[in-house]
Amino acid sequence: MLQLRCPAQNYAWGRKAGRNNGKIGSTVAALVEGAGGEVDNEKPYAELWMGTHPSGPATVEGAEGQTLSSWIAANPSALGSVGSLFGSDIPFLFKVLSVETALSIQSHPDKALAERLHAKSPDVYKDSNHKPEMAIAITDFEALCGFVPHQELTEALKSVPELRDLIGDVAASAVETTGSKAALKAAFGILMTAEASKVATAIKAMESRLKAIQKSGERPLTDKEELALRLNKQYPQDVGILSAFFLNLVKLQAGQAIYLAANVPHAYISGELVECMATSDNVIRAGLTPKLRDTAVLCESLTYERGPPAILNGNAVPGRPWTTVYSPPFDEFEVEHVLIPEKARFEGIQTYLPENQGPQIFVVRSGTGQAYLRNPPSDAQSKVLQKTILLKTGSVVFVPAKTPVKLEATDDGLDVWIAAVNPQVFQDGRLLAAKAVEVVERDATSWLLYLAVGLLLTLLWAKYTNNLEPIQKLFNKLLTQGSSVKQPT
Ligand SMILES: [Zn+2]
Repeated sequence: MLQLRCPAQNYAWGRKAGRNNGKIGSTVAALVEGAGGEVDNEKPYAELWMGTHPSGPATVEGAEGQTLSSWIAANPSALGSVGSLFGSDIPFLFKVLSVETALSIQSHPDKALAERLHAKSPDVYKDSNHKPEMAIAITDFEALCGFVPHQELTEALKSVPELRDLIGDVAASAVETTGSKAALKAAFGILMTAEASKVATAIKAMESRLKAIQKSGERPLTDKEELALRLNKQYPQDVGILSAFFLNLVKLQAGQAIYLAANVPHAYISGELVECMATSDNVIRAGLTPKLRDTAVLCESLTYERGPPAILNGNAVPGRPWTTVYSPPFDEFEVEHVLIPEKARFEGIQTYLPENQGPQIFVVRSGTGQAYLRNPPSDAQSKVLQKTILLKTGSVVFVPAKTPVKLEATDDGLDVWIAAVNPQVFQDGRLLAAKAVEVVERDATSWLLYLAVGLLLTLLWAKYTNNLEPIQKLFNKLLTQGSSVKQPT
């Protein structure tokens, strides 16, 4: 195992470290402080990056600033067989997020689009890789994700007249009557590319109308109306506020997760979460952001699938107590949660990380304990690995492929999140070709060994049964025949 030092990103939407009764508000800030880092109470702590992405690379503790990626380059066996599938790097980027104000309305390109965008504007789209992602709530968490079902959108077009006015009657009626993806795409495109002054006028009108409803007590505001007012405080008169009526509002409790395939619009709104994604930082933004917007690319690339996203509640792992696994339909990663409760001594305070065929990274959210290598292997790579690591809030550990690890909690319990390559890549045959080569190599070596042992045993038998002479004659005959062929007559 290697202990890592991981960088925090202080994006403006992050939660400030600021303390309430000595307790830090932002989970990211708490992890930074737990790991011995300096925390500035006035700064937002938005994301902790645990991986090899060049925009926020982890370094190896005690290795004079050596990055994890350069360590892996020197020890490629740490990736196991997944290197043949994903290249010479960890295929996932693991994060913790503390969201105070909404993130941008965004989507992530698929592989083909990512390659095109990166080739065209490498300064904006820094990676040629896609970025499927999964968000697991660790507190109450809200997000906008994917387009609402047809019925919900037609109701929004009725109940939010300012939205209908902005889109225009033709496009709004097309949505209502046909319910087609083309009509949805056209209406969403008109909204997202509307002139800023018209958007501002519409939002001002909506704000006055909603505030009048609130004041009169005529009815409670809907969740979406309440959200629109909240977003307007964070990003005044931004078109992203109106786009919220096109998108599903998802409220998760701690322990629930959503995953996002390519080209699905989304925006995280508030809460603390653990996030995992394919190693990439490609984001196409179109609202609720001071950063560059690429509205045309976003509107063109979305899939316009409708309906609420699937919610993962995690699955228990047979034979591994305290463990829940979240497995999205992506190759690059899955995430496990190990939660050993306080004073669990009676039920057991130990659990195992499985011997994974690929690399793993884990982070301790709270509690204390230790991680051990179960059977430290004796090859060169393992000599530089730490065999025991003391765990506390903020500890981040890299576990190379095929390295079984045991976690043990103290009476404080232990709350650990683990990212690993999705085991589906080892099961469905794509890595079979690589395995088959290994098997053939091993077989050839074994046969040579069997042949040598067989020859030795024959010679021993011949010596002890005085049959050495005929065998010597046989050898001599073979040798003279061989040389007679080679020598010119
Ligand atoms: Zn995203």
